[in-house]
Amino acid sequence: MAEPPPFPTSVCHGCAHLRLNGNRRGSVFLACAEPTLPRYLPQPVVRCGRRTPAG
Ligand code: SF4
Repeated sequence: MAEPPPFPTSVCHGCAHLRLNGNRRGSVFLACAEPTLPRYLPQPVVRCGRRTPAG
């Protein structure tokens, strides 16, 4: 059974740039697909000027 996404307080949740990457052991990692930012930022991200609400 997959784990819930980590860092529930991260502002990345609900952002259109967020990608949830899993490994074979069932761990889930938060990745940012915004091209000007590093793919893996220290989490939890508490503020982000590039945040784009998803949906
Ligand atoms: S743009 Fe900002 S808020 Fe969105 S996923 Fe990347 S780091 Fe998180």
